[in-house]
Amino acid sequence: MVTGAAGFIGSHLAHALVQAGAVVVGVDRRDPATDPTAAANLAVVRGLPGYMHVTADLLSCAIEPLLIDANAVFHLAGIPGVRPSWGPKFSEYVASNVLATHRVMDAVARMGTPRLVVASSSSVYGSTDGGASVETDRPQPASPYAVTKLAEEQLCLAHSAQAHCPTSVVALRYFTVYGPRQRPDMFTHRALTAALTGQPLRLFGDGHQRRDFTYIDDAVAATIAAATSPTASGVINVGGGSSASLLEVINIANSLAGREIQVHQENPRRGDVLTTRANPGRAYEVLGWQPQVDLHNGMRAQMQALTAESAAFGRAA
Ligand code: NAD
Repeated sequence: MVTGAAGFIGSHLAHALVQAGAVVVGVDRRDPATDPTAAANLAVVRGLPGYMHVTADLLSCAIEPLLIDANAVFHLAGIPGVRPSWGPKFSEYVASNVLATHRVMDAVARMGTPRLVVASSSSVYGSTDGGASVETDRPQPASPYAVTKLAEEQLCLAHSAQAHCPTSVVALRYFTVYGPRQRPDMFTHRALTAALTGQPLRLFGDGHQRRDFTYIDDAVAATIAAATSPTASGVINVGGGSSASLLEVINIANSLAGREIQVHQENPRRGDVLTTRANPGRAYEVLGWQPQVDLHNGMRAQMQALTAESAAFGRAA
């Protein structure tokens, strides 16, 4: 089962699993019949014989019947994004990231599902001061979103540490995943869209913030390895491929589009950390995983997908 299957990472994961021969139940509360983003994300898998889609809210739906015969659950459903988490939407973050996760964990343990892979985030570390973050570092979440992601992973790990819990848990701390179908609020998507359309790009801060950009296919490969590796459990960083500043991302977008993005600089937003950087050692040791795609090639693939999307949209309009 893949939760959050109508989302960015979930839809890529569901597709890769089906291509590898698995039978996948995808669950998401966004209904592809009425939500155009969900429909676009799911277009690659809907209709494939190995894929079944269920539109349901994990806060209220019956989860156990969906788990019959499941050997792994990938729990990616959640509310992402740092900035809106400071406002009144915080209760939605708590509901989807913590309370719904509790329902998923409870159901997998009752049903005896052997493995739960849960989507955590680099944001649990806060800002790294120079060195790369190791899983044993003390978490210092700098936003309400990051607090909910830390609660989410630790909640699942606490359940799995109970005697007789049949489910082992792997919490993946994803570092800034990008690529085709990336969420439109994310920086790479916004920079490439600005480069393609000529519309200005809002940049919060001076652009020297650094992220460890992780291409979607690499993130998916690590996620699948986390379900199948017999020894994986605990927390694992998924990142470490391409450390770059936001200004470097803008430069790559400029060179791919052959035009200069107009940048509108604004004040940094609360909770935006200066640097994230993954130590990928544990991912290599436990999952045999190493990122394969560098930022330039990954952004080129994302730009090609955006161009194809806008051509298809133009044809439909
Ligand atoms: P996304 O918003 O594209 O996908 C999340 C999906 O979860 C959405 O389709 C949403 O409808 C669904 N969802 C939310 N609450 C739900 C509920 N109660 N019941 C059913 N479905 C629900 O986000 P994404 O970028 O694909 O991220 C996936 C996961 O990875 C999230 O948990 C996010 O916190 C985590 N993560 C993502 C990144 C990244 O760079 N994209 C980095 C770190 C962590």
